[in-house]
Amino acid sequence: MDTYDLLIIGGGINGTAIAADAAARGLSVLLVEKNDLGSGTSAASSKLIHGGLRYLQYGEVGLVREALRDRELLLRNRPHLVRPIELLIPVRAGGPVPPWKLELGLMLYDRLAGASGLPRHRRLSRQETLEREPDLEPAGLLGGFVYPDAQALFPERLCIELAREAAGARAVIRTRTEVVGLCCDGARVVGAWLRGASRPGTREARGSAVGSERPQGTATGAHALRLPSNDCEAVSARLVVNAAGPWVDAVRRLLGIERRPLLGCTKGSHLVMRPPAQGPRGPVYATARSDGRPFFVLPWREMLLIGTTDIHYKGDPAAVRADPAEVAYLLAETAALFPRAPLSEDTVLYTYAGLRPLPASRDPAARITRRHRVVDHASDGAPGLWSIVGGKLTTHRTLAEQVVDRAIRALRRKALPHHAHGARCSAAPGELDLAALRRSAAGLPLEADQLEYLVRLYGPRAEEVVEKVRRNPASGERICPQNPDVAAQVEVAVEQEWAVTLADLLLRRTGIGSSPCQGLDCAERAAAWMGQAAGWSDARRVEEIDAYRQLIRQRFRGGLRTDG
Ligand code: FAD
Repeated sequence: MDTYDLLIIGGGINGTAIAADAAARGLSVLLVEKNDLGSGTSAASSKLIHGGLRYLQYGEVGLVREALRDRELLLRNRPHLVRPIELLIPVRAGGPVPPWKLELGLMLYDRLAGASGLPRHRRLSRQETLEREPDLEPAGLLGGFVYPDAQALFPERLCIELAREAAGARAVIRTRTEVVGLCCDGARVVGAWLRGASRPGTREARGSAVGSERPQGTATGAHALRLPSNDCEAVSARLVVNAAGPWVDAVRRLLGIERRPLLGCTKGSHLVMRPPAQGPRGPVYATARSDGRPFFVLPWREMLLIGTTDIHYKGDPAAVRADPAEVAYLLAETAALFPRAPLSEDTVLYTYAGLRPLPASRDPAARITRRHRVVDHASDGAPGLWSIVGGKLTTHRTLAEQVVDRAIRALRRKALPHHAHGARCSAAPGELDLAALRRSAAGLPLEADQLEYLVRLYGPRAEEVVEKVRRNPASGERICPQNPDVAAQVEVAVEQEWAVTLADLLLRRTGIGSSPCQGLDCAERAAAWMGQAAGWSDARRVEEIDAYRQLIRQRFRGGLRTDG
């Protein structure tokens, strides 16, 4: 049996970032993900790559500085996926934070960002604020501030890129592979029992994946070296990193010893809709009238993203959904901000919800620190196991660097320089790639909007999709008439990006599943292309289409009348 330096449990943003960094620095790495890469909390964020202005209120200056540095690196190294945005904060008479304090916070935010290349904050008069957002509720409006941050268009693809970088540095990535037990030698954790796809990419592996996104329960607790069941295999590792997001405590429980939970998850829900008439023109960061909580109204792709809530949650992480009260709250608060916008449940395309894997705390949800922590379980009797608590989408690079620095010390390995994630993707943003791609795609059945989109999705790798279309012009066909994605992307997803199910393809490799139609109209066509690339039988194709439709109904209708 091979012994890896690191076994990483979880293929969210943190697990994939740790894998990319560790593999680039010479460690042997196995990453296992029970579902699909980026399918957990990392798919359910507000998609902001930000320093977290509001954390300054709680004195988290170090966290904000760190996040702003990561924001800058992401903007530089992954300009195709992360782009700058400018948020407006409307200032109202009697608001929860006095304007002078807000301005002080923004000055500090600018200062902590250093020479980031982004503009500094600006104060707007009442008139300037209304010129920028003419449909904003004018009553009580004193003016506003604008300040820069960034947005990840497809956070799931960040995870895919990191996993590809890890694999490029010889890490082994196995999706649909669940850790169902931890192997111990005495008290020391020395590996894990895995259940799921036996060998990545095989027919057998693909066959086991149908419907695996239906709500799952907590992994049943296998204990120590006992084989949990016959369909499991053991892997051994010098260090096991539990990057299971909201499932971190479930993985710890596999040790079979009851301990106080590390996590106190909070739920956050979002609404996605088409931009309403007389609604926001740009990103707005506002304070809810009913409870003083901050919330965002963010143009995202061709839609509007509204969120989020922050509610303590103790249930099964896989079952988290928006509920009717959250939908009503977000709609009412947006309506208070933009009273002329026709907003109702019927204008909501879909909802989604996720769990913040925050440290257990008695504090109100909004006050709990967003700083990450790496817990070495040597302190509670299980050396060889580390758990990641907390963290942000934005700060995955710093987190990975810290974990790998520590791992190199713990494993007594020679220190290698850390890996600036995405350094290889540092082609200049926009024009340069697009111009080159336009030249290369001349004469192919790809339209201007599709080329632009491919650059956004793949960065420098867009050329690989174009090359596939060159070799087989039929694969330049749109998968969905309402989206720019082309069939050649299906092959890329299956061959190079671990896509195994129709949901992987539509929700996390292309933008179709998160677009207004959610891929419901094109599911058959997408499944036909996917079946061809992955060698599906007719029965499997039908199963995939049914499973996808059911998943959309179950996961993205939360809180709406048609829920369930
Ligand atoms: P996850 O993405 O959940 O990954 C953990 C993975 O582990 C999952 O894919 C799961 O399937 C897998 N797993 C679990 N158990 C096992 C097992 N036994 N075997 C194998 N695999 C297993 N951050 C920002 O920077 N900006 C934002 O705007 C932002 N907004 C947010 C809004 C909301 C509502 C929420 C909930 C979070 C937000 N965050 C934001 C925080 C950020 O999304 C999370 O901190 C981050 O995605 C956590 O990533 P992760 O890799 O730790 O967890």
